[in-house]
Amino acid sequence: MYKIMTPGPTEVPQNVMLARSMPCTNPDLDVEFVEDYKKLCLKISKLLNTSAETLILGGEGILGLEAACASLTEEGDRVLVIDNGVFGRGFQDFVTMYGGVPVLFTGDYKETIDVAALKAFLEQDSDFKYATVVHGDTPSGMLNDVGSITKLLKNFGILTVVDAVSTMFGEYLDVSNVDILCGGSQKVISAPPGLTINVVSDDAKAAINSRKTPIRSFYANLKVFFNYYEEKWFPYTMPISDINGLRAAIENIESDEDIIGRHRSIATATRTALINAGLKLYANSGYSNTVSVFEVPSNTTAEAILETMKKDHNIMIAGSFDVFAGKIIRIGHMGNNARKDKVLETLGALDKTFNSLGVELKSSLAFEFEKNFVE
Ligand SMILES: *Cc1c(COP(=O)(O)O)cnc(C)c1O
Repeated sequence: MYKIMTPGPTEVPQNVMLARSMPCTNPDLDVEFVEDYKKLCLKISKLLNTSAETLILGGEGILGLEAACASLTEEGDRVLVIDNGVFGRGFQDFVTMYGGVPVLFTGDYKETIDVAALKAFLEQDSDFKYATVVHGDTPSGMLNDVGSITKLLKNFGILTVVDAVSTMFGEYLDVSNVDILCGGSQKVISAPPGLTINVVSDDAKAAINSRKTPIRSFYANLKVFFNYYEEKWFPYTMPISDINGLRAAIENIESDEDIIGRHRSIATATRTALINAGLKLYANSGYSNTVSVFEVPSNTTAEAILETMKKDHNIMIAGSFDVFAGKIIRIGHMGNNARKDKVLETLGALDKTFNSLGVELKSSLAFEFEKNFVE
């Protein structure tokens, strides 16, 4: 099996794998499961520093984005879609699918969202039920200042949906103005893919509860979860083994003394190494600490780099897709992969890969990483 240094899924630690293999009860009928689920949800909210309610849904990260849009959108609702990346723009499809009218605020894909420009935009038009924004737009590694953006939106009376799937627990995030925060099990959390996390504020619940029309989905419907604890009932059988694994992964995060600092140290040294080796970072601003992204040098191809890394070094890193296909390479260093030894090994393999492809670097990536790494 390859070592997966991709921006999600990430390597799963052994205690998470073991937790997933434990015997399980009937999660529909055993109230102990409801208690354990609730405790885990409370723990996630606490780690995120919020009193908003966490819900864990069986389904990939995408389900959380769709569930947020399905639950909030009614026919004709105007929704502001903040777009400076593939996931950012992608929200318009969920809005449209549930009858809403997306209005895009599009920024340069190489720059973090300009909060002053967004403010100027909102001063002209702020008639939106909610807005969507991505914290870390993984296909390009773009990080947005979600704390400031959501504060601004709330000042205009707009509900906020934030995709933090790739950044949750790996980047600092002030969630005090976030109405629905979306996370996934397979990124920084370092559990396998399969669960989505939605953290729902009282304002979001009020908006969902006061809809005039029913939510046009059952599976992507947050409202069907609102009374699960009182009723000791879930809308569908919960994937108990996935949740057991998530619990172990969340406990790993709880005991990880400075997980955000660790991501920052790793990412800072990786970016410095890429620059000092003469490679070009994709973005001009807004660098996520969970993934490093550089442009494919002109005398080789993304495919050649990725294939050589796999074939000669057994390491899988990632290209990208959509508008970035073939143009950039992404090294994931999130969660259990945000470790000095793993990134050093990956960069050492990249040095050799570039050498065998005839791409000359100004300096060794591994050397520069080690030299510039500050705990
Ligand atoms: C990974 C990810 C998702 C979820 O996508 P999947 O295809 O379900 O893995 C959503 N948003 C962002 C920003 C992500 O990085």
